[in-house]
Amino acid sequence: MHKDTSWLPFWEGFRVVELKLQAQEVRIQLEAQTAQAMQCGHCCRACDQVHERLCRRVRDLPMLGYPVTLEVHLCRVACPDCGQRVQHVPWLARYARLTQRLAQAASACCARLPIAHVAELFGLHWSTVRELDRQRMQAQVDALPPAQPRRLVMDEFALFKGHRYASVILDADTRRVLWVAEGRSRKSVRPFFEELGKAGCTRIEAVAMDMNSAFDLEVRRHCAKARVVYDLFHVVAKYGREVISRVRVDAANQLRQDKPARRVVKQAHWLLLRNRKSLSDTEQVRLDEVLAVNAPLMTSYLMKEQLRALWTAPTAWEWRRRWKQWLAHAEQSAIPALQRFARTLQPYWRGIVSRVRWPMHTGQLEGINNRIKVIKRMAYGYRDTEYFFLKIRSAFPGNP
Ligand SMILES: [Zn+2]
Repeated sequence: MHKDTSWLPFWEGFRVVELKLQAQEVRIQLEAQTAQAMQCGHCCRACDQVHERLCRRVRDLPMLGYPVTLEVHLCRVACPDCGQRVQHVPWLARYARLTQRLAQAASACCARLPIAHVAELFGLHWSTVRELDRQRMQAQVDALPPAQPRRLVMDEFALFKGHRYASVILDADTRRVLWVAEGRSRKSVRPFFEELGKAGCTRIEAVAMDMNSAFDLEVRRHCAKARVVYDLFHVVAKYGREVISRVRVDAANQLRQDKPARRVVKQAHWLLLRNRKSLSDTEQVRLDEVLAVNAPLMTSYLMKEQLRALWTAPTAWEWRRRWKQWLAHAEQSAIPALQRFARTLQPYWRGIVSRVRWPMHTGQLEGINNRIKVIKRMAYGYRDTEYFFLKIRSAFPGNP
C-alpha cells in the first residue's frame, strides 16, 4: 500500500495508516496528522499536552458494498481550562459511534424509508437508526414557528392494538398537527388547552370534530367563543356503516333465490360508499345496476348524497330547507336503519349548521386519517408510542 495517504480527504486532520478488507468489512486505521495542532474536545482551545492515547472504533459510510469500521487513534489532551479531554475531531461528535457523515446520510433516508430498511442499508442496528430519526424529527418540530391557531380540527385514531386510542389536534388553516396524545377522553385533551393558555383559547373561533366524540364539552369549557362544527367526513362514514351497509345486507338476503343478483349486491359495498365523482364510467354503470335492483338501496344511496349537500349549503336559510327536507324524507322512507340514523342525528343540528358559517375543509381529516394509517404501518413493530406521535407531528408541519 502507498505509504503517504494523507491526500485521502475524507477524515480531516487524520491520515490512513492501514486499509484492509477483513471479516466482510473494510477496516481503516486512522492517525492524527502530526503537523495538525490538537484541540480540546470541549472548548476547541489548542492543546499540545498529550495525557494518554486511545483507540476508538467508529462506523462510517459503507464503501463499495462493504460496511466500514474506522479505528481512530486519538489523544486525550490536558486542556488548561477543561482538564483532560479527548481531542476535537471535526467529523466526529463527542462519544459518537458513527461519523457525522454516516449519521446525516442515515437520518436523511429516514424521511423516506422505514427505519428497518435504513438499518439494513447502512448496516446499523435499528435502535441506532430510530434514535437518529427521533433526533431529526425533534429538530424539525422544534424549528417550527409558534402556532396561533384560530380554527382547530380534533380527531381520534386507534393505536397499535386497536383497543387503545389517541387524540390528534390540528390547525385547520395551516394543517399543522399541534398535539398528539394517548386517550380520547376529555381529560386526555385537556393539557392542550391548558398549554394554549387563556389568550390562545380565546382566539379559537371554531373546532371541527366527530359528532360522537367527548371533545365538545372540553372545547366549551376552555374556548368560550368557539363554535363546534361536526365534520362531514365522520357523519358520512357513520351513515355508510349504519345505514348503507345494513340496507345492502338486507337487500342481499332478500335475493337469496337469485344468486347472480345477490352477488352483484354483495360486492357493491365499495361502490356504494365511494363518492360518485371518483368512480370511473364502468363503475358508475355498475353502481346504477346495483341501485336498480333494490329500491331501499337506491333511497339510502340518494339520501347519502343529500346528506352531503347539507355541508355545502350556501346560507343558513338554505341549510334549514335542506335539513327539514332530509329529515322528512328519512321519516317517510320506511327504512328502519335510515329512520334510526335521522333520529340520532337530529340533536346535533347546531354542529351541522355551524358548518355554514365556519366552512372547514372537510376532506382534510380523511386525508390525515389515511396518512396516519400509513405512518402506523411504517412504524409498526417498534411499539414506541412517543416515537410514533413524533412521526405524526413531523409529517404535518403545516404550510403557513
Ligand atoms: Zn478545553
